[in-house]
Amino acid sequence: MYIFKEIRTLQQFLEAEKKAGKKVGFVPTMGALHQGHISLIDAAREQSDIVVCSIFVNPTQFNDPKDYEKYPITINEDVSKLTAAGTDVLFLPAVAEMYPEGVHGEHRHYDFGYLETVLEGAHRPNHFQGVGIIVHKLLEAVLPDGLFMGQKDFQQCMIVKKLLDIIQLPVQLVICPTRREEDGLAMSSRNLRLSSDERQLATAIFNELIRIKENVNQTPLDELKQNAILNLEQQGFQVDYIEVADANNLRVISAPIPESMVALAAAKLNEVRLIDNMLL
Ligand code: AMP
Repeated sequence: MYIFKEIRTLQQFLEAEKKAGKKVGFVPTMGALHQGHISLIDAAREQSDIVVCSIFVNPTQFNDPKDYEKYPITINEDVSKLTAAGTDVLFLPAVAEMYPEGVHGEHRHYDFGYLETVLEGAHRPNHFQGVGIIVHKLLEAVLPDGLFMGQKDFQQCMIVKKLLDIIQLPVQLVICPTRREEDGLAMSSRNLRLSSDERQLATAIFNELIRIKENVNQTPLDELKQNAILNLEQQGFQVDYIEVADANNLRVISAPIPESMVALAAAKLNEVRLIDNMLL
């Protein structure tokens, strides 16, 4: 596996590969890799000739500075996992490489409209602007054919789809299913920050989503959501939201619709904020 830290050398390498007719698949991550990330690498390998993974903990998407400081970093293990998974290129830039204008410098603003005003957008001010800024910069550096992202971050996938529209890059967005631990907890780098007691409790989010899925056509949505919030709060979670939305546009709904629906959850266990979702 080649490791590049500079955009210029990454681009030199990729240009030669593209000239030789190779299709590039790209998996952007923030590291502390787990099987969920590796499933994206696997999907990219199946659908591309060259697989590029990036690891970059992007400061502009963290609305909570403590969350940024405590974001887990496991670079040696990450390199081993990526090598074992058959990744061709790791792009591992420093903050100054991605933000020559400075993290607090002047950045482009993206009009994500309604999508940015709900759920994660409402609870994490500026988070999706930060996502837009870094995904745009990374896409310009890699210029991939396919971009592989996880359904785990459902709203992020919709934001990135919109970003591709806005910046008019001909990149195919491939959304891969959420990988879970055996007890159902969605794999996440932030799970590394859970104590063993918290880790045991954390699966409750998945259980509540399952309960919503099983009852969506029998019980009023408001009641389902309220019960889920109460159950989580009783177990010590601070709930940011439990919502059911139209999966096509993320409009929050108050009664079931025939089109596809998604239940989305965000809750904190002490210091660690977890998100998950489930198509209903
Ligand atoms: P992150 O490192 O958390 O920024 O995630 C990098 C990519 O991996 C994003 O596209 C995520 O949606 C995806 N991802 C994170 N967790 C999972 C998971 N449990 N299953 C599948 N994809 C995931």
